[in-house]
Amino acid sequence: MPKPTVAIVGRPNVGKSTLFNKLSGERISIVEDTPGVTRDRIYNEIEWSGREMLLVDTGGIEPKTNDEMLKYMRLQANIAIETADVVIFMTDVRTGLTADDRDIARMLLKAKKKTVLCVNKVDSVGALPSEFYEFYELGFIGEPIAVSSTHGTGTGDLLDEVVSLLPEADADETEDDRVKVAVIGKPNAGKSSIINRILGEERLIVSNVPGTTRDAVNTLLDNEYGKYVFIDTAGIRKKARVDDRIEKYSVLRAKMSVEKADVCVLMIDAEKGITDQDEHIAGLAHESGKPSVIVVNKWDLIEKDDNTAREFTDKIRVALSYMSYAPILFVSAKTGQRTEKLFEFINYVYEQSNLRISTGMLNDVLNDALTKVQPPSDKGRRLKIYYMTQIQVAPPTFVIFCNERELFHFSYQRYIENQLRTVFGFNGTPIKIIIRQKGDDPV
Ligand code: GDP
Ligand code: GDP
Repeated sequence: MPKPTVAIVGRPNVGKSTLFNKLSGERISIVEDTPGVTRDRIYNEIEWSGREMLLVDTGGIEPKTNDEMLKYMRLQANIAIETADVVIFMTDVRTGLTADDRDIARMLLKAKKKTVLCVNKVDSVGALPSEFYEFYELGFIGEPIAVSSTHGTGTGDLLDEVVSLLPEADADETEDDRVKVAVIGKPNAGKSSIINRILGEERLIVSNVPGTTRDAVNTLLDNEYGKYVFIDTAGIRKKARVDDRIEKYSVLRAKMSVEKADVCVLMIDAEKGITDQDEHIAGLAHESGKPSVIVVNKWDLIEKDDNTAREFTDKIRVALSYMSYAPILFVSAKTGQRTEKLFEFINYVYEQSNLRISTGMLNDVLNDALTKVQPPSDKGRRLKIYYMTQIQVAPPTFVIFCNERELFHFSYQRYIENQLRTVFGFNGTPIKIIIRQKGDDPV
């Protein structure tokens, strides 16, 4: 279970960093490699009432000295909306409610973000100042919470409220724990043969369960490697009358299976070699963000020497260049050679597609990457990358916040993706990178 994220947003100077540091319990800063540049650290792990969380100070994304701080407000609110489980929206009782406060509030309310409204700089104990009551106007659920970040008063109430809004600690453990597998590939690649082979060898087949459409039957399989559902096995095993001789139909069928799957097994006929239709079908898995295992079948028919597997691998890598992440397994459904290996491969890419990397580690890798290869510039403007965070698994999805999306050339995205893969793996799975620039509306 990943730690939930709590982001502090608000206008400049309301006291976000002061609160962040207070809650973090220390004054922390990172000195960057460039001499003379000190950047406040913007995330830290904290614990309250036994709940751990990642606290993010969105105000720290740009250096405090930047006069154009105001421009980044919307960017910061967007970061919070996209990445945080709960937002602490901070305001300042001394200035009272301002137009900028309303602007941020609108964004949070529109995104239906769980928000704790915090009114800062309420330093004196006793009756609340009348300005405090203005903040009710914003229309958030729950009371505004008065705090003094410098003194630390009210922060306990604030964290109680935050914790009450966090997602349940074991919320995502209740999902069906079976790995859903789609076996896809062009007609005659050997899909039904491999499924029959796998099922035929197993004593522990549970049952055939009807799928959503009359035609689609899923097969449950439990073995020493885990619990699986093979999707739409009827469509594969019984040769449908509207046969997959019609390419469009077989592609549609593959598409529907892929959508339901956690893992795709892409069958390639070794005898035929890799064809356009294989590329097309593989593309479905890639585009859907599903992890894949490439299975080269009918290996028994191939006359082999030491280089045969490597040469075949090279051909696949060229034809399916967008899928260089997928591992390749050579099998024979007919003889059963290496077919059992398939389960290890399925488990492996499934785990990889569910990897979650902490924001701290990601930004360490990002900073390393930025130091090694400077971001591109164009007509005197240089790409600035502020921050990166993983917002989703399966497929691993990252949001990178930068100054101008247009400067973020594809080649540099590729470079960042390769750095992530080098450090963290993500083998077998596509990864998604979403680029956000200042002023963007949240997705
Ligand atoms: P940020 O721009 O929102 O991160 O704001 P800072 O944390 O940098 O604070 C802006 C100014 O407000 C600083 O001078 C702080 O010392 C001051 N400040 C922050 N919190 C409080 C508070 O609770 N009471 C008072 N009186 N001043 C505060
Ligand atoms: P599907 O259309 O993808 O389901 O392919 P099938 O499983 O029906 O296989 C098509 C043909 O290839 C059948 O005649 C199978 O017997 C044959 N076949 C499948 N796998 C192998 C294999 O590993 N080796 C050999 N020699 N033939 C195979």
